[in-house]
Amino acid sequence: MFQLDEQTQMVAGVFRQWCQSTLQPRVPALEAGTEQPFDLMKQMAKTFGFDAMLGGAVKKRLAKLKAGETAPGESLAASSGTPMMMHVVVKELSRVSPGFAMGFGVSMGLAGGSIVAKGTAEQIERWGLPLATMQKIGAWCLTEPGAGSDAFGSMRTTATADGDGYRLTGSKTFITNGPGADIFLVYARTPDGIGSFIVERAMSGVTVGPPFKKMGMRDSPTSEVFFDDVKLGAEHRLPGGRSATKDSLGTERSGVPAMAWGIIERCYDMSLQHVRDRKQFGRAIGDFQAVQLKITDLFLKLRTVENVVFRLAWMQQAGVKDQPFVNASKAMSAQLAVDAALTAIQIHGGMGYMEELGLEKLARDAKLLELGAGTTDINLLAAARELIGPLEA
Ligand SMILES: Cc1cc2nc3c(=O)[nH]c(=O)nc-3n(C[C@H](O)[C@H](O)[C@H](O)COP(=O)(O)OP(=O)(O)OC[C@H]3O[C@@H](n4cnc5c(N)ncnc54)[C@H](O)[C@@H]3O)c2cc1C
Repeated sequence: MFQLDEQTQMVAGVFRQWCQSTLQPRVPALEAGTEQPFDLMKQMAKTFGFDAMLGGAVKKRLAKLKAGETAPGESLAASSGTPMMMHVVVKELSRVSPGFAMGFGVSMGLAGGSIVAKGTAEQIERWGLPLATMQKIGAWCLTEPGAGSDAFGSMRTTATADGDGYRLTGSKTFITNGPGADIFLVYARTPDGIGSFIVERAMSGVTVGPPFKKMGMRDSPTSEVFFDDVKLGAEHRLPGGRSATKDSLGTERSGVPAMAWGIIERCYDMSLQHVRDRKQFGRAIGDFQAVQLKITDLFLKLRTVENVVFRLAWMQQAGVKDQPFVNASKAMSAQLAVDAALTAIQIHGGMGYMEELGLEKLARDAKLLELGAGTTDINLLAAARELIGPLEA
């Protein structure tokens, strides 16, 4: 599978049009924070029939559970049989608004996908389905003020036993979609290890901080979320402990290369056009070898990340696990996206530095890919540890 099939190409084309006609005009207000992206996410899901596209995957999982299956399910993209299509959607969104793509991925893929993959039939019907189809917006809450890279070891949020259920207390930070989410998937320390809990925004004791002011991804609202003695029934706890959380981390990291792909492709397309159009010293700047080298550099970055995404999609489709590849390719794709955005700005000269071109936004947004879903160093170190394996003292 080294090129997109006809159906995926068609979906990419339709999404590109929607991004240009509907998403692009909203980006300035989303960036300024005067508008929130959540209605637009719901509108997009409706327009493109996510109900039919992903509802089928959810129903398939429900049928398996009802037939007595106990093993956790796959990611939403994999179980819908269309992993490449979901990557392509994320890529197209990221060409225009990486923050919008991130918010969409967190809600549908991380929050919704984790509930569909790990939840009971009741949890899937009640919370998983509305998230997977984007009738509701979700957030995924792992990071805390004192627990970032060491998310599990330093976690202070607790869910203490209370009758049949739990009481949840703690705070989470840097939460994508925090300001608008209806449903939070929250990781907490319990008497029997790390657990994940489905929390509704309307519950007593749940409060959300104001959106952070950020360097980039400004079209994705991020906030703190506080849980003050929130009473949860037993049905709010997702089956599976720390290993289930690690699977979600894998899903989160697998989504990053598609975002990098969109950023790099836009940088490449714009740069190619610019070097043909822009004239200096009486010639198109594409005639200068120093500029030509930058175009080849962008082209290679584009094809490299595109191939990473193809392999991730193949792994998801074939059920192949290769966590070192997921971790390391996330780190590499993020770095290539940052480099590509800076190269594209360089190719565009002073104009590249101006807001109206959108390249400076891509550079600001790309930087987040090196931080979120585990920093670059954390991902590279995790990959190395798995590749080397246990060592004798
Ligand atoms: C815009 C944005 C959106 C986000 N969205 C979400 C979200 O929706 N949900 C969520 O749960 N989290 C989210 N995050 C949090 C993100 O996952 C964390 O920021 C990230 O995991 C890093 O944690 P930290 O910021 O605490 O950095 P730290 O862990 O404090 O790291 C600081 C530096 O130390 C390095 N470092 C730390 N430990 C080691 C080590 N053992 N070896 C080598 N180097 C090390 C890191 O690589 C980094 O360079 C988001 C963050 C941002 C900025």
